[in-house]
Amino acid sequence: MANVPEIFGSMVFNDQKMQERLPKATYKALKKTIQNGEPLDLSVANVVANAMKDWAIELGCTHYTHWFQPMTGVTAEKHDSFIAPSGDGQVIMEFSGKELIKGEPDASSFPSGGIRATFEARGYTTWDPTSYAFVRDGSLYIPTAFCSYTGEILDKKTPLLRSMERLSTEAVKVLHLLGKNDVTRVTTTVGPEQEYFLIDKEMYDQREDLIFTGRTLFGAKAPKGQELDDHYFGSIKTRVAAYMKDLDEELWKLGILAKTKHNEVAPSQHELAPIFSTANVATDHNELTMEIMKKIAEKHGLVCLLHEKPFAGVNGSGKHNNWSISTNTGENLLDPGKNPENNTQFLLFLAAIVKAVHEYQDLLRITVASAGNDHRLGANEAPPAIISMYLGDDLGALVESIINDKEYVSKGKVKMMTGVDVLADFKKDTSDRNRTSPFAFTGNKFEFRALGSSLNIACPNYMLNTMVAEELSQFYDELKDADNLDEAVKVLIKKVFTEHQAIIFNGDNYAPEWVEEAERRGLLNLKSLPEAEAHFMDKKNVDLFVNNKIMTEQELRARYEIELENYAKQINIEALTMIEMAKKNITPAVTSFVRELTETALAKKSLSEAIPTVVEEDLITSLSNKLVCFTKKTAELEEAVIKANDYSDDNLAYATYYRETVFALMQELRAVGDSMETETSSEYWPYPSYGEMLFNV
Ligand code: ADP
Ligand code: MG
Repeated sequence: MANVPEIFGSMVFNDQKMQERLPKATYKALKKTIQNGEPLDLSVANVVANAMKDWAIELGCTHYTHWFQPMTGVTAEKHDSFIAPSGDGQVIMEFSGKELIKGEPDASSFPSGGIRATFEARGYTTWDPTSYAFVRDGSLYIPTAFCSYTGEILDKKTPLLRSMERLSTEAVKVLHLLGKNDVTRVTTTVGPEQEYFLIDKEMYDQREDLIFTGRTLFGAKAPKGQELDDHYFGSIKTRVAAYMKDLDEELWKLGILAKTKHNEVAPSQHELAPIFSTANVATDHNELTMEIMKKIAEKHGLVCLLHEKPFAGVNGSGKHNNWSISTNTGENLLDPGKNPENNTQFLLFLAAIVKAVHEYQDLLRITVASAGNDHRLGANEAPPAIISMYLGDDLGALVESIINDKEYVSKGKVKMMTGVDVLADFKKDTSDRNRTSPFAFTGNKFEFRALGSSLNIACPNYMLNTMVAEELSQFYDELKDADNLDEAVKVLIKKVFTEHQAIIFNGDNYAPEWVEEAERRGLLNLKSLPEAEAHFMDKKNVDLFVNNKIMTEQELRARYEIELENYAKQINIEALTMIEMAKKNITPAVTSFVRELTETALAKKSLSEAIPTVVEEDLITSLSNKLVCFTKKTAELEEAVIKANDYSDDNLAYATYYRETVFALMQELRAVGDSMETETSSEYWPYPSYGEMLFNV
């Protein structure tokens, strides 16, 4: 058994190690940088770098790497060794402050959306001291931000850090106005719940669709799926338990607060949730968690699938982004307290969030859009593509009473009787759960539930932070010169709730009526990435990011182009993989099976005309017909992929074409393929079945 407190953070250059290993003055200077974002002196950086290096070498490191989050969707790292020639043919181990602070990776192969001039390939990585350095596989990892030589941001961390700063500034201004003068900083906190699938490595290796695209492109339904709900919170199988134990330990060593683990709804699906931390650290930790989930799986002969929809017909995987804001004085600003009706501060921040989600619902939808997540949103397993907010019965009633000038009567906390003597009665939380809502208030935080499982959470969080900062800054301007502040705050809260109540929906988001109701309310229903992304460069969105100094218009445009292009590329890879599977494996397999059937029928006939061959003949007819259709559809898909080039000048048209034409044909091809699978002997079928993959771990 691992001694958890002992291993926790053992691979992290955390505060404790800084205190132990840094001279007092250096520690203080570094702490100031971490807490207040003050720039760090090179002389201080030199001392820090040296201490980090000594510590890393003790843990067996030979290299260091600037670790960053480019626009590819995965993290990037380039390893340099610590060695430096000492002049006498020997080497010494060195690591300077300059090397700690700044790296110069070649940026030319990272997506830049056309920002980076091709003649200037250099990019910079800059140390982010607010996220601890750590050791992994013999390298010292330094979390960094990534920008082009000319300073344009090319990563996901920079906008997140800027947005946290913005939100802090605006929230502090509002709090000072309300008399909370001791608050000097407000932090965004995030706890991401991560879903994933585990399947057997041997099965995985036989499926090129999983290898190339992360999801199955063919596959008939297994006789059993998730209909019995017997997997959710079910007892964890030995092999999976061993994996989870290893995973927890590895994460704990890296200072990641892995807390909850359980089985999810779909067979072979699981979830891991950490205890929340600052948005920046939560992002780095979630990226690391996903990488380590995959690594540890290999050790157990498993593969961890983080794709949003690895299997058709059973739930896909998402990520719940629990988000809140709290002050440096320890107050959670989204905690309603015992009497929310008298808590104007809470109501003001709530109003800012309601207004933000309503006005920027398109951005929240865009930020969770991806080729993978297109399969989930609106498929009655994840929140719909329509963004709305759930406040719960109590808070919902309070907001309604404010809008209608009615007295608020708290329904109070409902006492639930368990009916079992040994179990203590517990109080039902007033913020009841509505699992169908994309953006739900859950007690003292909002849970943004529309994220796909593989998403980098930096994106939804910088969007959220920025839009809430914007609303708070508008509130501040409106309130700062008020003669009667109390009254002005109340008027503002009422006005905002009244004008933006359309975004609040406490009902069932999966119900077909909601789609119509949402339309009546004027809410957007953006069903796919291209549809959503088409709104990204709308003036109000550009203004939001530019005015809040998160990104320039050019940087935004770059992101827009990258998202669309990636989307088209992903579907393109899927289409090509399908074509290959169809031509090289499925068609030949079915042909062979039909030949066997034919030979059997002929053999029977040659024995005696009296032996019935109707079974073989029916199957031969059915499969032969399907094969004709399958081959035709494969050819159509091939043609469609070639034709895509006609659209490649305009990324929006390109992505839309992939969605509307290529993806649609893929669905058709799959339907025929899956239907052939159900009629073909498993001896001939070239791929492990859904049943084997989902129930074999
Ligand atoms: P559930 O599955 O019921 O939604 P979990 O306990 O699995 O609940 O996850 C809740 C997540 O919310 C955890 O990661 C938790 O740390 C996080 N969380 C709790 N309080 C806050 C907060 N103030 N800010 C951000 N995240 C929070
Ligand atoms: Mg949750």
